[in-house]
Amino acid sequence: MAYVRRACAFLNQRFEAMETAAHGRSRDLANEDELYFGVSQRMVTARLRPAIEGAQWSGIVSRIGVRALETGLVDAVLCVQQSPDDRFTPLPVLARTPEQVLAARVNKPTLSPNLEVLEQLPGSGIRRLLAIGVGCQVQALRAVQDTLPLEQLYVLGLPCVDNVSRAGLQTFLESASDSPATVVHYEFMQDFRIHFRHSDGREETVPFFGLDTPKLKNVFAPSCLSCFDYVNGGADLVVGYMGASFGRQWLTVRNPRGQELLDLVETELDLAPVSSRGDRRAAVQQGIDAYDKAIKLPRWLAELVGFIVQRVGPQGLEYGRFSIDSHFTRNALWVRRHHPEKAEDHIPGFAKAIVARYRLPSL
Ligand SMILES: Cc1cc2nc3c(=O)[nH]c(=O)nc-3n(C[C@H](O)[C@H](O)[C@H](O)COP(=O)(O)OP(=O)(O)OC[C@H]3O[C@@H](n4cnc5c(N)ncnc54)[C@H](O)[C@@H]3O)c2cc1C
Repeated sequence: MAYVRRACAFLNQRFEAMETAAHGRSRDLANEDELYFGVSQRMVTARLRPAIEGAQWSGIVSRIGVRALETGLVDAVLCVQQSPDDRFTPLPVLARTPEQVLAARVNKPTLSPNLEVLEQLPGSGIRRLLAIGVGCQVQALRAVQDTLPLEQLYVLGLPCVDNVSRAGLQTFLESASDSPATVVHYEFMQDFRIHFRHSDGREETVPFFGLDTPKLKNVFAPSCLSCFDYVNGGADLVVGYMGASFGRQWLTVRNPRGQELLDLVETELDLAPVSSRGDRRAAVQQGIDAYDKAIKLPRWLAELVGFIVQRVGPQGLEYGRFSIDSHFTRNALWVRRHHPEKAEDHIPGFAKAIVARYRLPSL
């Protein structure tokens, strides 16, 4: 709490300083891949073999956490379990055993106060820590890193957008799923559909373009509507999916510590190079205008648009750029409308360069 004013990603954005301290340099804005995906020494796609049952994707993140404990690389793993009463309420913990790490598998798609558990460090005997977290948590962690009683800190990041409070999640589930009470897992996938898994194992898919935009516009947390750290620029290694082809995970190694984390599981991965296909730009521009007017398409039309986009639309890294462009333009507009006095300082240079490629609606 004492460090919150300095640490909070939304009071104080300092990407260049954070990246330089963590990786030895900040992202190269002249390099199109770094402009979008941050400092990188290696990018691959992968699947864990065998996959971990019940993980969000194949479970690469949980497996790295388990191996980090088993090999003695760290004494504890900061991860997010679920509250005993509710699958979607996050419970950050300092896991000391593989079982505790595995109990944290699968996303809790709600805002999680991860840094709270750092207060348990003094006197815990934990000197080496692996912290798993999304961008805002990692920015705050990096800001206080030097004040922590640790000898080693490894950071395993997840990309993240459009997080919500628990109440906001309920609104989203009720507007998007045919059975909100039984959803146990969902993901916005690279086929432009949301995949919901229900407690009886049924899979329901809904096209992105059929979402109830008028209802959902106010669901996302203000912190997420003003975030430009989708790709988790401060983490040593980032494990997501959006830069990979359908069904695979996407890994960005930012520095040698990130490679050390990947080394823990690399022999268990089915690896492939990253690829890219299509041209996102027209789709992003159309999406900016449709979102601003809060247009809701009828289901048949949403299915048709989804069908076409899935076949000819952006894939691999181009899908990642599509998602980044769509979110950065929306968020830049939100910040400029709601906090005009802060916009200039708050929106980082890399995001301004991306947003400037599009025509935004008037303020
Ligand atoms: C809120 C959220 C939004 C995401 N959005 C995107 C996205 O837009 N694009 C993309 O490419 N990837 C996104 N991801 C990452 C992606 O969904 C997977 O989590 C990632 O690829 C790892 O999959 P896995 O099977 O290896 O994870 P698992 O082995 O299932 O492990 C999941 C890990 O997530 C951690 N976790 C769960 N909930 C939270 C939380 N609320 N805050 C912090 N950590 C949490 C747990 O500690 C656990 O270690 C998001 C993740 C989260 C948590």
